[in-house]
Amino acid sequence: MTSGAATTDYPTTLDPQALVTFVAQEVAPHAGTWDEQEHVPPEHVAKLAAAGLFGMTLRPDVGGAELNALAAARAIAEIARGCGVSARIVVDSNFGAVQILDKFAPDAIRQRYLPRVRRGEQLIAIAITEPEAGSAANELTTRAERDGDEIVLHGRKRWITGAGERGLYLVFARFDDVDGAGGVGAVLVEATTPGVRDGDREPTMGLRGLREAELHFDGVRVPAEHVIVEPGGFGRLMAAYNGQRVGASAVALGLARGALEVAVDYAKERHQFGRPIAEYQAIQMLLADMAIQLDAAELLVERAASSADRYGFPERYATSVAKTFASEAAVFVTNSAIQVLGGNGYSRHYRVERMARDARMFTIGGGTTQMQRLAVAATLLGK
Ligand SMILES: Cc1cc2nc3c(=O)[nH]c(=O)nc-3n(C[C@H](O)[C@H](O)[C@H](O)COP(=O)(O)OP(=O)(O)OC[C@H]3O[C@@H](n4cnc5c(N)ncnc54)[C@H](O)[C@@H]3O)c2cc1C
Repeated sequence: MTSGAATTDYPTTLDPQALVTFVAQEVAPHAGTWDEQEHVPPEHVAKLAAAGLFGMTLRPDVGGAELNALAAARAIAEIARGCGVSARIVVDSNFGAVQILDKFAPDAIRQRYLPRVRRGEQLIAIAITEPEAGSAANELTTRAERDGDEIVLHGRKRWITGAGERGLYLVFARFDDVDGAGGVGAVLVEATTPGVRDGDREPTMGLRGLREAELHFDGVRVPAEHVIVEPGGFGRLMAAYNGQRVGASAVALGLARGALEVAVDYAKERHQFGRPIAEYQAIQMLLADMAIQLDAAELLVERAASSADRYGFPERYATSVAKTFASEAAVFVTNSAIQVLGGNGYSRHYRVERMARDARMFTIGGGTTQMQRLAVAATLLGK
């Protein structure tokens, strides 16, 4: 650990009540606009950083607050009640690539880049998926070749959140043409490096404030010390990625909590046949089922966030159970909220249609629910 501690003035503790106020004032009122405009302004990203929401999980010597995954997941769920896109940005600034850097990168790299993440100056995208390697991430073909004290990257990534907008990419690549997971390592690339190019934006269903696009690496040269995890470390990379999955599960949970609140308020106000619709048992049953799903999801997400594997990341079984249940619960709850609101639920003037579109992503991104079920079964079967 270096002695040149990189401190920031940003809050190092989270006040839950202050977060609720921040979300109510600075996040939720703008979520619809960001969805319509398909863009989150940099000023908002700066506000999230200034609130201390980036790098919460990082170690103190890079300015982090060293909060555990449970505290970060709770904060993320709270943000998602107001805006799924903001919450996803906060996930990417606390889990996944940033934790891979914090845990596995040499100190010089940590000190150079992670304080910038904490301050919101430079966010990191994680680039695993390729056109022909989605669920089968171990079949990726992006090549990393060693050339003296440099690494040269060739390949194409797809579905990269923040492609073209973020300053750093953590690129999963195959070294020395070694087949399978054993050949995969992770390389840090600055977005401005010659040969890096982003593709067209995907016209996505939800989470539209995030840019999803391809990334191309055409003979991109980076210093050899930018190899953050050497080939042979795929297990460590996937273990770290479980943190990202827990963060994503917290977003799904928070989005759905927001939708349930809208549905409850609406059911009390909307009158049909001379009474509030909340007085009809069919609506009450639906609201109860939504709450039951969310309470169970919350417990599973918190269990996963509190678990630790041998690297200190959330453990695989608990993570896969939580991601499967929370993402499917979020789809059910947000769609049920549309039903409670009737025609208004289908209107873009009401928040629940956006929440349903946003929630739909979480059974896919970060590993589909089918792949999570396979991971659960693998644990059961001792694989
Ligand atoms: C909005 C969004 C953001 C994303 N952000 C990122 C990002 O930032 N970085 C990144 O690297 N990736 C990202 N992804 C990619 C995401 O992780 C992949 O989409 C996901 O892993 C699935 O891969 P695929 O889309 O290629 O689907 P496929 O792997 O082609 O799967 C298609 C279907 O087949 C099923 N299937 C596949 N294999 C099996 C099997 N063995 N058994 C049973 N069923 C199977 C899948 O579950 C799925 O239903 C993002 C995706 C989305 C939608």
